[in-house]
Amino acid sequence: MISKKKEMVLKGIPASPGIVSGKAFLYGREQYTISRRNITDAQVQNEIKRFKEALLQTKNEILEIKKRISDELGAEHGQIFSAHLLVIDDAMLIEEVISKLKKEKLGIEYIFQDVLRRYIKVFSEMDDEYLKERISDINDVGRRILRNLIGAKEDLLSNLKEKVVVVAYDLSPSDTATMHKKNVKGFATDIGGRTSHTAIMAKSLEIPAVVGLEVLTKKVESGDMIIVDGTHGIVVVNPSPKTLRKYELERERLISFEKHLMELKNLPCVTLDGRKIELASNIEVPEDVPSVLAHGAEGIGLYRTEYFYMNRKDLPTEEEQFKAYSSVAKKLKPYPVTIRTLDIGGDKFLSQLEVPQQMNPFLGWRAIRFCLARPDIFKAQLRAILRASAHGKLRLMYPMISGLTELQQANALLEEAKKELKKENLPFDENIEVGAMIEVPSAALTADILAKEVDFFSIGTNDLIQYSLAVDRVNEKIAYLYEPAHPAVLRLIKNIIENGHKADIWVGMCGEMAGDTIMTVILLGLGLDEFSTSPIAVPEIKRIIRAVTMTQAKVIAEEALTLSTGKEVEIFARKKLKEILPDMVDEAE
Ligand code: PEP
Ligand code: MG
Repeated sequence: MISKKKEMVLKGIPASPGIVSGKAFLYGREQYTISRRNITDAQVQNEIKRFKEALLQTKNEILEIKKRISDELGAEHGQIFSAHLLVIDDAMLIEEVISKLKKEKLGIEYIFQDVLRRYIKVFSEMDDEYLKERISDINDVGRRILRNLIGAKEDLLSNLKEKVVVVAYDLSPSDTATMHKKNVKGFATDIGGRTSHTAIMAKSLEIPAVVGLEVLTKKVESGDMIIVDGTHGIVVVNPSPKTLRKYELERERLISFEKHLMELKNLPCVTLDGRKIELASNIEVPEDVPSVLAHGAEGIGLYRTEYFYMNRKDLPTEEEQFKAYSSVAKKLKPYPVTIRTLDIGGDKFLSQLEVPQQMNPFLGWRAIRFCLARPDIFKAQLRAILRASAHGKLRLMYPMISGLTELQQANALLEEAKKELKKENLPFDENIEVGAMIEVPSAALTADILAKEVDFFSIGTNDLIQYSLAVDRVNEKIAYLYEPAHPAVLRLIKNIIENGHKADIWVGMCGEMAGDTIMTVILLGLGLDEFSTSPIAVPEIKRIIRAVTMTQAKVIAEEALTLSTGKEVEIFARKKLKEILPDMVDEAE
């Protein structure tokens, strides 16, 4: 169906590649309009009956979603709905609604909404962070109950009845997790950056997405035709027939290009002059493993473990973690799996841990800082990783290391965990490689010192760029300043690799830059030993690596280092890539 409305093109940030078109579905916290309606004594019982039916209907809905999400994405993603069930069963809330209804004799929707608002107000005024975080659960469930009371249509992403393109102001990582690939063709949001975790999740689900569109939700109505071009970061609202055709052709071109890339799957990742490069993938949950293997990655360079701890009320036990880590290790064997220890904070927070709100969460109590302060949580994870190392080739790395002391403290806890396991006669790989993520400028500048304590480095460019350029990675307003090609970033990377090699350790990269095709040759020339990217980027990176010699790459990297701005480096890198593989560089970019 072609709309008569005027075509509008919006430029955002490419978050997950691919092109889709379809009906827009505006997802938001829309408010239901509920009028005040008097009821008679005789109607009271009927209103109570309606309320109880709505509660039951809501409970069944939630149970169904919980089951589906647990089946499809794993139990850890299903956990969020357990918290929702607790709200429905809250006897105090139910009693308060019924007694108020009897007293005030107003329509049940009105009474329920009133009680709900008061609950939310009371919770938001509490000092307890855990209880404060329950507000979003109460809100979600409350809206569901209200919707069932007034018979409005379901607007949840997990339960879409037709294929749509989701448009939202923002989506939390758990919103993204509940998306059904079957019905969500793609999504576009007003806020968010390329390396926000919602964007990363979209990539792992292989859903095309554009973020940081700023005003999109003000320009689109549900039902409008919309194109999401996640490869170039473009959204077209109400496209003309000509634009639709253009994107349809581009979509077909991309699909056949991808098919061609997949033919590389079983070929080795080696440069023209024979240098073998380790090409691995990043995963969020064990369910991502099939995609890693399908795209031809030879290992996992970053297994983010935060998702284990998200959307649940309790902490994952050592046993539970051991099972997940060892199942991934077994599936990847003989390839390596690099498990990163818990990196909470920044834009990833955990509801079950009482982390106080911080003015600058990315600069705050995060990752290794949190783990060193909570050795109980950290040790359980270290023990689980060590135990799983008996079942495959595991590596372990710490996030957010900012200096030597932190690294030594983490290693000391690891030694303790090893000793405990030995005492308990539990097997583990005594030679497990231990690495540090280099993602803080202070670590990059002291790479020579840190290299003595570890077996490898993995460069976390998502954070390294935000910290070295002072550009919040999730703020779309300053996204233009978030430049992987910035000379400061290149110099830091050069320093990390050189000092790693001087100390005889290998250096990898697991930030999004490792999957940025424009930068591949430069990174290769700087001496990077391992690239770890989202699975979908693997074939393209392999194709580039297989098309150059190390000599060629070194010359290109050296010249890139003489340039003065990120833009200059980017233009230069694009030109060089075009010379090597003309069809890799898109004129539209
Ligand atoms: C990084 O910072 O580059 C990284 C890989 O870690 P995360 O994106 O999880 O912070
Ligand atoms: Mg990081």
